[in-house]
Amino acid sequence: MTSTVPNAVEHTDGQQPPITMFGPDFPYAYDDYLAHPAGLGQIPATEHGTEVAVIGGGLSGIVAAYELMKMGLKPVVYEADQLGGRLRTVGFEGCDESLNCELGAMRFPPSSTALQHYIDLVGLTTRPFPNPLAEATPSTVVDLKGESHYAVTIDDLPQVYRDVADAWNKCLEEGADFSDMNRAMRERDVPRIREIWARLVEKMDNQTFYGFLCDSEAFTSFRHREIFGQVGFGTGGWDTDFPNSILEILRVVYTEADDHHRGIVGGSQQLPLRLWEREPEKIVHWPYGTSLSSLHVDGEPRPAVTRLHRTAGDRITVTDANGDIRTYKAAIFTAQSWMLLSKIACDDSLFPIDHWTAIERTHYMESSKLFVPVDRPFWLDKAVDDRGNPTGRDVMSMTLTDRMTRGTYLLDDGPDRPAVICLSYTWCDDSLKWLPLSANERMEVMLNSLGEIYPNVDIRKHVIGNPVTVSWENEPYFMGAFKANLPGHYRYQRRLFTHFMQDRLPADKRGIFLAGDDISWTAGWAEGAVQTALNAVWGVMHHFGGETDATNPGPGDVYDEIAPVELPED
Ligand SMILES: Cc1cc2nc3c(=O)[nH]c(=O)nc-3n(C[C@H](O)[C@H](O)[C@H](O)COP(=O)(O)OP(=O)(O)OC[C@H]3O[C@@H](n4cnc5c(N)ncnc54)[C@H](O)[C@@H]3O)c2cc1C
Repeated sequence: MTSTVPNAVEHTDGQQPPITMFGPDFPYAYDDYLAHPAGLGQIPATEHGTEVAVIGGGLSGIVAAYELMKMGLKPVVYEADQLGGRLRTVGFEGCDESLNCELGAMRFPPSSTALQHYIDLVGLTTRPFPNPLAEATPSTVVDLKGESHYAVTIDDLPQVYRDVADAWNKCLEEGADFSDMNRAMRERDVPRIREIWARLVEKMDNQTFYGFLCDSEAFTSFRHREIFGQVGFGTGGWDTDFPNSILEILRVVYTEADDHHRGIVGGSQQLPLRLWEREPEKIVHWPYGTSLSSLHVDGEPRPAVTRLHRTAGDRITVTDANGDIRTYKAAIFTAQSWMLLSKIACDDSLFPIDHWTAIERTHYMESSKLFVPVDRPFWLDKAVDDRGNPTGRDVMSMTLTDRMTRGTYLLDDGPDRPAVICLSYTWCDDSLKWLPLSANERMEVMLNSLGEIYPNVDIRKHVIGNPVTVSWENEPYFMGAFKANLPGHYRYQRRLFTHFMQDRLPADKRGIFLAGDDISWTAGWAEGAVQTALNAVWGVMHHFGGETDATNPGPGDVYDEIAPVELPED
């Protein structure tokens, strides 16, 4: 079918349109596609009821399965661990059920508009997340090199911190056309986005985040780079990202993925769990009242996939941990790509060799978190000085530090109720430092670090239950927290993201579709898991001979007009 990319949004009221995760690599309006009354597309009636394997019951797999079910296909979901994947909300043993913690994703930017579609669909609510110096955060303490600063806004911090913030803004403006790109993304000006991004991709695919800072006139000072790495922007220190490709960082800042965060009330895992149970109002082929749950035996997904191979007729044959073998005309794979190299026995013939290379080169960030339940939000108690006079400050604050804990988040549901502290949230090397320690050992080190910052606060006396911890790199079905491309990885990323356009692949390489966080341009943000799920849904629909409504072209229909920049292979 012919299609057109929507023109840039025109605004006459002088108001800026909101920023959304629209591009820069593939500027497609997933939010409009989802909101359109014509739906995501149709498959021929002869295919109704056909089984499609969906491997992985995280957000991406559940969104894909839900949409395929609505089109009249029969998704068969395989999940090795638990539904929800990296949206994992956990309670505290023996504590009030309302207390929980987010071991994976915990804060979502309003720019995640495709994600928001599903949050709204299942009736979940969000509220501001207490990030450093955010409006919803009563106070923040920045503790570097043994010196602590208390702040409500950035203006309360010493001048050097504001200099660093200015340097970052300057560096983005000079090195990455920040305001131009921001405006183009707000206005959904596809040609402009593509023009700016094509130039930057070509110029910067080889550059690290740290190299980008060092090359900037604004960041000639080592001290400034160091403070920036420790305190960073939005969610805190970003020095663990310094070795990553600068393109990864630009994607985050352009789309404001790191800003205005909101948490999901009651926990993010409810989203995939509610979608699993949801009975869509509009559904083809299946009777009203059908849900993903009702399409599965005992309402449970099938277990882990252990083998994937091709059989005659370009079918995908799936073996699971129970030894069951089933063969499908199409399958969507949403788990982390490294699973295809280790836990799952795979035929080479599943993917073209260049895709295998991209899978092998995938680079993950590590990440650890530790949470403790406490009796009440004692941090809001007012501090007194040595003479017992009130200082007007909270006794403890959201804390950013260069000590082992790095980021400490204070999470409460109002006064006089039990609350939760995320004592530490770390990435990469900072996460690996925790790896060999048990939950209790980790907690001891964390309490010691925080004891240095808050010598007059006895955190331990408020703890009412055992700590809960995770290191995603140590989770057998994950092997890392989320993908982060290194310099030179653009081509690999492009191969994986565009894999849903299978007309370009040899016939014997079609039928299995990659989706999920690893395939997304913005790994580490749930929006990308949703966007890539929708690509895979389009791919499966197309594979079955289906099409979208002419008024609502899908990502594959407009692909040629907005395809990601291609870099030469030689
Ligand atoms: C520490 C951390 C913090 C994060 N913070 C944020 C945040 O604040 N905001 C945000 O938007 N995003 C955040 N993210 C990213 C977000 O969690 C992910 O983008 C999203 O949850 C990924 O969904 P997915 O379905 O692609 O993958 P997953 O959730 O990983 O789902 C894949 C599923 O496949 C399963 N699986 C693995 N192997 C097999 C097998 N052999 N057979 C069957 N199933 C298998 C896994 O068990 C898993 O359930 C964070 C992630 C982590 C780890």
